[in-house]
Amino acid sequence: MIHWSPFVQNFKKKYPWVQLAGHQGCFKPGENGTILKKSTDKERECLERLMKDILRPYIPEYKREVNKGGERYLEMQDLLQEFESPSVMDCKMGIRTYLEDELAKAKSKPRKDLFQKMVEVDPSEPTEEEKREGGITKPRYMQWREQLSSTSSLGFRIEGIKKGDEKPNKDFKKTRTKEDVDKVFTEFIGDDDQIRKKYIRRLKAIGATLESSPFFRSHEVVGSSLLFVHDADGQASVWMIDFGKTTPLQEGMWLNHRTAWEEGNHEDGYLWGLDNMVDIWSQR
Ligand code: ATP
Ligand code: MG
Ligand code: MG
Repeated sequence: MIHWSPFVQNFKKKYPWVQLAGHQGCFKPGENGTILKKSTDKERECLERLMKDILRPYIPEYKREVNKGGERYLEMQDLLQEFESPSVMDCKMGIRTYLEDELAKAKSKPRKDLFQKMVEVDPSEPTEEEKREGGITKPRYMQWREQLSSTSSLGFRIEGIKKGDEKPNKDFKKTRTKEDVDKVFTEFIGDDDQIRKKYIRRLKAIGATLESSPFFRSHEVVGSSLLFVHDADGQASVWMIDFGKTTPLQEGMWLNHRTAWEEGNHEDGYLWGLDNMVDIWSQR
């Protein structure tokens, strides 16, 4: 039997794709409403497990790994697809942005590029020794960024925003206090109450699902983001993205994602950050 649908599916709609984090060149357009992200085994395995977890509705639909020009890519749902000139915000979750394993690299070679990035923001930050060396290690750089932004104090930070047709803005390195964040959130939604309510509802649903997700309990979730998307038609939603650093815990170990981090306990503060975020969205 043939069903006549009352609508036209149009995957070929042309719209500018927005990338608010990561390196240029890691993403390619895919077919049928998908995008391709350069693959790593770690992220692929997470997405495969997530497709079988109760978190699935909050994750971009993962299809498969594909080969393109000799490179492996993860083919997943393009979350911007259903929006008209979307506004997008990437918030990196958790009280840490590096894995415990990466701490070991503290003794690794100091990097000149990271030193320069630091000096551009705050010339007084490097120690005398770092100045002599002309370089800093990656964990040193990342810990500094965490203190400067709201990562350490609130358990998440704003990575980037693109509002409708405006240029993307990634200048949130010093957005740190609740007041700072509230201002940016409110400006992002143009203080639209309906959008705010939709975001809060979705964040609460994500929070409740995280609380009972077997995947979440058994993984250290670091460097992962919540992607906020809304448009002028009043559509608004949030998804969990970026599992490039999400790591399974040892058998039998699990996290509550709230208690303070001490080296060895693997806690990431994800839920603590989400609680703070919901508070900020709700305070107006
Ligand atoms: P980093 O680790 O530096 O954050 P990354 O290379 O791991 O970067 P992601 O964080 O996964 O990349 O994605 C980068 C950006 O691409 C996001 O901020 C978002 O703007 C966009 N993006 C990622 N996945 C999707 C998706 N499924 N649909 C729409 N946009 C996406
Ligand atoms: Mg990311
Ligand atoms: Mg990443």
